[in-house]
Amino acid sequence: MSEKGLSGLWYDKTKKWELVELPVYQPDDDEIVVRVTATGICGSDLHITRGDGRDENSPERGPLAMGHEMTGIVHSLGKKVKTDSLKKSLKEGDRVIFPFFFPCISCYNCIRGEFGACKYRSRIPYADFKYCNSGYSQYFVLRKPHIIFHSPKNLQDDALVSLNCALAQVVEAFNVGKINFGDNIVIQGAGALGIYATAVARSMGANEVIVIDGHESRLELAKKCGASKTINISDINSAQDRIDCVFDFTDGIGADIALEVVGFPAVVEEGLKMVRMRGKYLEIGSIAENSFINIDTNYLVSQQIRMTNFQHYDPWIIPKCADFLERTSDRFPLTSLVSHRFKLEDINEAFEKSDWLGENADKTITRAMIEP
Ligand SMILES: [Zn+2]
Ligand SMILES: [Zn+2]
Repeated sequence: MSEKGLSGLWYDKTKKWELVELPVYQPDDDEIVVRVTATGICGSDLHITRGDGRDENSPERGPLAMGHEMTGIVHSLGKKVKTDSLKKSLKEGDRVIFPFFFPCISCYNCIRGEFGACKYRSRIPYADFKYCNSGYSQYFVLRKPHIIFHSPKNLQDDALVSLNCALAQVVEAFNVGKINFGDNIVIQGAGALGIYATAVARSMGANEVIVIDGHESRLELAKKCGASKTINISDINSAQDRIDCVFDFTDGIGADIALEVVGFPAVVEEGLKMVRMRGKYLEIGSIAENSFINIDTNYLVSQQIRMTNFQHYDPWIIPKCADFLERTSDRFPLTSLVSHRFKLEDINEAFEKSDWLGENADKTITRAMIEP
């Protein structure tokens, strides 16, 4: 009898996860199957399960196999796969980290080295591939061409789960957006992306790192990760007052760079007004459909705002992020961002408690992870 694994599937109709047993995929010669050991609950997963940007007329989706902030061990290895993507020997049982998407290596974007922008990089949906295969599952299939690296020995799973999404994503944004030495940076949102962004901006030579959020505990964590100033939106509840704060903190100039990792249109409208003349606005958060902003484009032109938008990253960033976490483990508490752990059986509870807009939200959660 073929091997089976437990998999969480999201149903729009019931707004619940259901656990099902699905076959474990047998890898072809060039493929790898990973036994998932831990997966972080990302804000983007919560946007999807909450149905942000959708209404009663939106068609029912799925069931959906989701979860991408994962790490694990090599379960089975195609016989042609001998090494990881840095040519280090790879065998079953090795702990690994990897991007959760699959650049095709042979399209207009890929041949230009833009692997994070490959149009063919998406995972195959559950409807077309009914195997145990997602972050909220016991197994994940790395189809060809895949990219994979050994996990650093000194970093535990809870340090690694968000590396392939939250951390890699902000590193990509700051690499492309290019922090200059002494830049004043605004970070809108102090969830995992914002906390990582704070430490990365600090490490890349920022002067002021101003972090904005509504939870004091998150802002306290941001301070431990290099924030020089914080703005609590519960205390300063007018957008204009917060914009004024940023100008006060930057000698009336405005931020050189603002990075948005909240994902609501009003936050973007506000942040665009926090940057200086010819400042840069780096947009990551708006991953829900129908996120329309209302802004005078003449303002953007007259202020010469450089706005750049990001989704995914180039895969070489993954081992660099692992190096960063190891190198800064004594300096920033980034390896302990996971505050809560749940079994796969308790995935509904994990999502309810993690949803900061839900009535059962547990405000003490910085990042929750599932251990399938
Ligand atoms: Zn994510
Ligand atoms: Zn491609």
